[in-house]
Amino acid sequence: MTETIKFEVDADGIALLTIDLPDRSMNVITPQMGKDLDTLVERVASDPAIKGAVITSGKPAFLAGADLGTLGALAGSSSDASGMFDTAFVRNGQRRRQETCGKPFAAAINGLAMGGGLEITLACHYRVCADDPKIQLSLPEVKVGLLPGGGGTQRLPRLIGVQNALQYMIKGDSMTPQQALKLGVVNELAPVAEVVARAKAWIREKGDPVQPWDKKGFKVPGGEGAYNPGIVQTFTAATAMVQKETLGNYPAPRAILSAVYEGHQVPIDAGLRIESRYFAQLMLDPTSKAMIRSLFMNKQAADKLARRPQGVDKFQVKTLGVLGAGMMGAGIAYVSAQAGMKVILLDTTMDAAEKGKAYSQGLVDKGVQRGKVTAEKGQALLDRIVPTTAYDDLKACDLVIEAVFENREIKDDVTRKTEAAIPALPVFASNTSTLPISGLAKSFSRPQDFIGLHFFSPVDRMPLVEIIMGKDTSQETLARAMDYVGQIRKTPIVVNDSRGFYTSRCFGTYVAEGLAMLADGIVPALIENGGKQAGMPVGPLDVGDAVSIELGYKVREQTKKDLGDAYKPAPGDHIVDKLMELGRLGKKAGKGYYEYPEGGKKYLWPGLTENWPSAAEQPPVEEVRKRFLYRQAVEAARCLEEGVLTDPVDGDIGAIFGWGFAPFTGGPFSLIDSVGADAFVRECDRLAQQYGARFAPPKLLRDMAAKGESFYGRTARQAAE
Ligand code: NAD
Repeated sequence: MTETIKFEVDADGIALLTIDLPDRSMNVITPQMGKDLDTLVERVASDPAIKGAVITSGKPAFLAGADLGTLGALAGSSSDASGMFDTAFVRNGQRRRQETCGKPFAAAINGLAMGGGLEITLACHYRVCADDPKIQLSLPEVKVGLLPGGGGTQRLPRLIGVQNALQYMIKGDSMTPQQALKLGVVNELAPVAEVVARAKAWIREKGDPVQPWDKKGFKVPGGEGAYNPGIVQTFTAATAMVQKETLGNYPAPRAILSAVYEGHQVPIDAGLRIESRYFAQLMLDPTSKAMIRSLFMNKQAADKLARRPQGVDKFQVKTLGVLGAGMMGAGIAYVSAQAGMKVILLDTTMDAAEKGKAYSQGLVDKGVQRGKVTAEKGQALLDRIVPTTAYDDLKACDLVIEAVFENREIKDDVTRKTEAAIPALPVFASNTSTLPISGLAKSFSRPQDFIGLHFFSPVDRMPLVEIIMGKDTSQETLARAMDYVGQIRKTPIVVNDSRGFYTSRCFGTYVAEGLAMLADGIVPALIENGGKQAGMPVGPLDVGDAVSIELGYKVREQTKKDLGDAYKPAPGDHIVDKLMELGRLGKKAGKGYYEYPEGGKKYLWPGLTENWPSAAEQPPVEEVRKRFLYRQAVEAARCLEEGVLTDPVDGDIGAIFGWGFAPFTGGPFSLIDSVGADAFVRECDRLAQQYGARFAPPKLLRDMAAKGESFYGRTARQAAE
């Protein structure tokens, strides 16, 4: 018995190692668990009374892989490549010892096996997996900027061939037990209650303690070697695909390709060394640290409502009111009904309200067709949505969210009518994307119970909700709003009131910078490709069209009206004016920065270069890329300085999950940390001088640069204080 693994030997001399981490709902590889496995492998190897061993789990899942907390702390923590290699290679040495110790090991996979969890089973000589289609087997390390560093890049291809293995490792997709059996990743499927017995039976009856790759004459299925035509073709295609998808921003898929390519021209021991070398390289790269922190650790904490004020009773929305059944209202109604709430969906006419509900019908139909939801469950979801035009129907609501037109007078009107119909309503929320919450709260008699809940479109697919605190919003209201966001299983960030809040304000700088470049005479295709190379999902002109040029124009005009002389014109304002004049309002209108020929592929509108001629000399794409990333990051830093954001963690999560800011950076604050505040400030000064004051670094960044501080260093210190 060790701290994390139970050890028993049966009458046949077969050891059973049951991984069961105390105080954890899921088994993960912690340093202690690694040590315990090592100790027990030695015991199996050295005790002549033990014939072989079965590894299984004492929890419903088998093993979820490395503990991301431990890994995240280690990633980027040192610049010592050889030290990092040693740490990585110890793990490979242990798995190698397991498969060459002379005793047979079998894995009894009773549930999900991911990453290092699956790798432990690959170092077993036989694998029995529970026959349950819900079980996922995967090597998903690429999703956090790493590669399978416990032998996965060497064993999986030797088991199932290079091409099959690359597909799973480069995308990090999971396979079902049936797929795993077909591919040869597992040897046998069995009912979950029998996996241990079947694994033991194999040890008793066959118990071959030598891996295929340690046998004489072994050949990798599907071919091996640098001169094999199939292999050459596979790597040529895979390299091109990786480059197309990552645009060179993600080092992990390339490292996986290299580890597999190089590792297969040598015996496995040398291959494992090669793998550890690439693993160490990735661990030293700031990308993996930033990705682990933002995409997993901080996202998970936000999902668990880490920022919910304490001491407020848990709030549960049973009946939700949604005002306005347009694009956003319809989406909010769907996700809320999906979470089990009754939804009163109100619009000015019954037709409009019904149309909002029809949106859910469409999504349910698709779900039923794809087998994602049963017809009964789908119908029950629809039955929970009640379209109406009567405010009296809102009486039972615990929360009302307004999503009517972006017009202050209309919003004030519906807020007053709601309060008149249901004076004791616990929380009123607005889904406005631009109007300051404190101003809207004036039409509600209890501004402390008024809050912003900013959803993203399409609501059913976008994971983020930006919660906006008005000047008077109470902590209790914030807690209740967060409980609702938790109910619909979205990720909340909390920001303070400001024009455009956090996400719209920073996202707007991406499109605006694209227009500024157009005004500078940069070729439109270079602008679009530079945006994508910066890691943004689409180019700035493309997304400007999708959001609608008209909407951007209206927001700008409202801002001008509100700010008066304080409005600072943007370098691309005249371009938007011209497109409005020409009726090129965006994608919905069928024309904008792009042309949208019926039945054909969209292309950049040639009029762009006719109206704004391209300069004779074009900047390198690296400069374009930098302008996009730095412009957004400097705005995010301003939001923190002004108190719109109170925490860089919210800033990073909001950027990636709200407007698709380059995930490989870990978000704008992680980007500044990776570059270093000092270098970032110097570069911003240069950009400001060359392109305009919008790049000027805020005082917060200058102070951080002077003191050698970083955002996450600061946050860690503040948390410790
Ligand atoms: P939309 O035009 O699709 O829908 C608005 C709906 O409100 C319409 O069905 C309209 O009939 C209804 N409506 C208008 N006046 C009303 C009234 N007095 N009473 C009841 N219903 C009324 O607009 P949308 O895109 O769904 O946007 C709604 C709100 O959400 C706006 O405040 C917008 O800024 C915000 N928002 C939009 C997006 C987006 O991507 N579209 C994203 C976040 C937030």
